Amino acid sequence: MNSPLYSIRMHATRQGQHLSGAEHLTPAEQLDALAAKLVRRALEHPRGTPESIQLTVDLLEAEAVQRATLPALATLPVTTVAQGRQAALSALVEAGVSPAVAQAGIDLLISGAAPGGGVMRGAVLMQAVSGERLEADPARGVRVSRMDLDPSAATTLRQQLAVRGLDNAHVREALVLAGKVLLAPGMVAELCWSDDPDYSAGYVASPTFGYRRFPHLKPLGEERGGRIFFWRGVASEIAAVVAFLERTPVLFDALGELLPDLPSPQEA
Ligand code: AMP
Repeated sequence: MNSPLYSIRMHATRQGQHLSGAEHLTPAEQLDALAAKLVRRALEHPRGTPESIQLTVDLLEAEAVQRATLPALATLPVTTVAQGRQAALSALVEAGVSPAVAQAGIDLLISGAAPGGGVMRGAVLMQAVSGERLEADPARGVRVSRMDLDPSAATTLRQQLAVRGLDNAHVREALVLAGKVLLAPGMVAELCWSDDPDYSAGYVASPTFGYRRFPHLKPLGEERGGRIFFWRGVASEIAAVVAFLERTPVLFDALGELLPDLPSPQEA
């Protein structure tokens, strides 16, 4: 990708509530086709029909685009939500989040992290030791944007994921998002499960072990989901980390390792 890149973002809402969103980097020639695809995606999202769909397109300076490698991916094959949440808790602690903060983070996503228990548009930014919430707006949160896969890396990733039965948009997009989050200075870990009622899997990502998937982190039918970025920085560094996550363009042109499944809790 040497031609100039545009960032394109979609955000769909109903009655002011977040329904769905997506972000990509693309050359001009593919912009109109991608815009149509994102509108279609907003219209067909399982969380419901939007009243408003916003598309935002920005031209990026070529030299501002960072190239990077995706994190390694491994699945921990839990068979129940309770097992998944226990394993996610252990992964967060392994990554360096204090145990009480890790548990509070899981409880926050269970109850809905937006004010009133709803779904946030972006992620919670949480201090990994004190548990303090640092995002300026607890309904919007921090929205990671301006990241994508290089087309040739995307083709190879799809082939590799297909072998494991994991070639779906949830996994591909979450891997790219987590990859950018892990590049942020001071990031300790990310916890995510989807707000899509048809998708129960989630993950914990950390700079040490990469992207660890859990097939069950919430019950099917549940519309509450979200993301928490556990971070070890201090107050004076918040603006810089948020600016990196929201605005620095990152294009992933190399894949991380696809690791064998980890031992399931029954075997461990
Ligand atoms: P999804 O994986 O798309 O189902 O998103 C699950 C939750 O993660 C959403 O409800 C948001 O709270 C959050 N989220 C989704 N996309 C982003 C993003 N680009 N940056 C930060 N948080 C996000």
